[in-house]
Amino acid sequence: MTKVNTVLGTITPEQLGTTLMHEHMVLAYPGWDVDALCENLEFSELAKICADALGEVKQYGVKTVVDASPNDMWRNIELDRVVAEKTGLNIICATGMYYEAEGMPAYFKFRSQSMDIVTELYESFMHELTVGIGKTGVKAGVIKVATSHGSITPYEEKVIKAAARAQKETGVPILTHTQQGTMGPEQAALLMGEGVDPKKIVVGHMCGNASLEYQMSVIDKGVYVGFDRWGLEFFFPDNLRRATVLGLLGLGFADRIILSQDSNARWLGRASVIPDFIQPLIANWTYTHIFKDIIPQLKQAGVTETQVNQMLVENPKRIFGG
Ligand SMILES: [Zn+2]
Repeated sequence: MTKVNTVLGTITPEQLGTTLMHEHMVLAYPGWDVDALCENLEFSELAKICADALGEVKQYGVKTVVDASPNDMWRNIELDRVVAEKTGLNIICATGMYYEAEGMPAYFKFRSQSMDIVTELYESFMHELTVGIGKTGVKAGVIKVATSHGSITPYEEKVIKAAARAQKETGVPILTHTQQGTMGPEQAALLMGEGVDPKKIVVGHMCGNASLEYQMSVIDKGVYVGFDRWGLEFFFPDNLRRATVLGLLGLGFADRIILSQDSNARWLGRASVIPDFIQPLIANWTYTHIFKDIIPQLKQAGVTETQVNQMLVENPKRIFGG
């Protein structure tokens, strides 16, 4: 029987329940901690901020949250674990790497001059999936890969190939990051070319493109598409995301869509003052936005409870369960 790794141990796919497939505990770009003016929050303070924010999802019946932070975005397993304990939520963490421009590729790129880094990355992912992450003993439950805007760099391609090898051996899902949906078909083709079952692939951030033709070019490959950035209107307006998801639901694709927000409880680094023009574009970007705003709006447009349940409960169960 398939088991799902959470930061507090394994559960069955049936125990996942309502699942947010792509969120983050904190967001931190590599280098945040070399800023002399970065905030220096105590761990306990940070854990409380995260638990309070994420805990709000429980009132909407959420049981499980995937922390999609890759290894090089200050993924913090201890924080995931404490927040899981405080909230009672299942939290699933990831192994994997972010896209080249905003991740931390220097180490493996240096090694690639003389070593086979596809194998090294594969070994590293396998260790985190089957042995544990660092000294925590926590095993990752998903693999995260990412690509650039309009291209897949040679480094990103190596990460994807390593991820495919680890996926085939462990059966865990692969969650991807696209830049506003670009390279969605190419990601799916590359992973499937390496032998990954399309039903184990969620092509992320596809809600950054309102073209149904483009959406179909990804869905036709048999993978899932992530409508996982609701509220992040700095990149793309929710009303176009809504129109797109309504189109796909109208075509009968509730069984291929996941809903999430790519939100976080805290940015790490220097406390930033958000410019006035950006504030309204992220005002609704929270862990609860889809439940408070988007799902009621979709229902008003005729979306059924069964379709919502398919996207939030049944699809995650199948993605993890196979
Ligand atoms: Zn994300």
